[in-house]
Amino acid sequence: MRAWFAIPLWQRVIAALILGIATGLIWGPGAESIKIVGDIFIAFIKMLVVPLIFFSLVAGVASIGDLRKLGSVGWRAMLLFVVTGQIAVWLGLALGTFLKPGSGIDGRSMALDQSALEKAQDRQENAQSFKDMILDIVPDSPVQVMADVNVLPLIVFSLLIGIGILMAKEEGKPVLTIFESGSVVMQKVTMVVMELTPFGVFALMAWVSGTLGTNALAALGQLVLLNYLGCLLIIGIIYAGMIKFIARLPVIAFFRGIVDPIAVSYSTASSNATLPVTLRAAERNLGISNSVASFVISLGATINMNGTAMYLGLATLFGAQAFGVQLDMADYVTISVLGTLGAIGAAGIPGSGLIMMVLVFGAVGVPLETIALVAGIDRIMDMMRTTTNVTGDAAVATTVAVMTGEIDTAEMISADDV
Ligand code: ASP
Repeated sequence: MRAWFAIPLWQRVIAALILGIATGLIWGPGAESIKIVGDIFIAFIKMLVVPLIFFSLVAGVASIGDLRKLGSVGWRAMLLFVVTGQIAVWLGLALGTFLKPGSGIDGRSMALDQSALEKAQDRQENAQSFKDMILDIVPDSPVQVMADVNVLPLIVFSLLIGIGILMAKEEGKPVLTIFESGSVVMQKVTMVVMELTPFGVFALMAWVSGTLGTNALAALGQLVLLNYLGCLLIIGIIYAGMIKFIARLPVIAFFRGIVDPIAVSYSTASSNATLPVTLRAAERNLGISNSVASFVISLGATINMNGTAMYLGLATLFGAQAFGVQLDMADYVTISVLGTLGAIGAAGIPGSGLIMMVLVFGAVGVPLETIALVAGIDRIMDMMRTTTNVTGDAAVATTVAVMTGEIDTAEMISADDV
């Protein structure tokens, strides 16, 4: 027992990831029987999302101290989200154009996943208008929003409470104390739940590697490879470059600090479920102040999805090639705009990128059947997209924290036993 806890958590998590993959490969589809361990783990971290965002974001915003500073953190984060999102979609478009993943596939002759197709058609019929999307961000009932774990309106509500505390000055102090103490308590609870990570990661990896059909994987292998390549380019060039050249911090120390969120995002394929882990790593291992970390990372987990943006570009070209649809430059521009919007609108849950394809495909005339074609292998691509999305949140939070002097870099560099 003591020996178990003596090993740093991140090493236990990585070992679990590798052992999980090996177990799944040996066991095969039967590995699904231990998925329940992973589901319990996900349920535990999901449990933390609402109280953690609420306490830590309110405390964070109020402790920024003044509204001008809040604005300066906010616009920098938004700018980085949007610029990197655009680069990501164009990267997906370039990979799709030059490496043509769909050209060797005849979409009509391949087995389609009918339930995915129905879901996509259903979604197209009930497509949310832009007006609804905006309206959804307004928390008409804060309690409802919390009950539904609806993250974006929860962020808006928490921001407003934080701003209210700032405006109330002396009279707001008692409320601020409650939130600060609540946020410390939630961090402790997160620490306890994190001890389940090795077990959850092991079970989820065994399930994925055990049940993924190798046939489907072989046929669509090129798309899977390009999805991984695109994501690795985003992480290795855009994020590493951002840390090295804008934040001017050691790249290795940054990645070592976020090993936990990387492993959890990869195995759960959910930015939302990873949020508590990302927050903890940002504050504890990277030394980012609570105010910047909670603000930028909570927001990023819902709107900053560059892995998803890249994939939307790539998958649209894949579908166009598989079904013989010609796209011109105007279509590319449409895809880049809708891809970024789709990534912003995608919820941080498994498979939401797949659903967002409806938005992009519809606009440029790529058949929705493409969604049914790739649904079977989406999980394995989703895992990498999610890791990219989560790494992006940490990279933007670090960069903004450096720009605004809200980071203790000594902590990041010396964080040996994270
Ligand atoms: N699962 C991804 C996430 O949570 C979104 C996607 O499907 O691309 O970040």
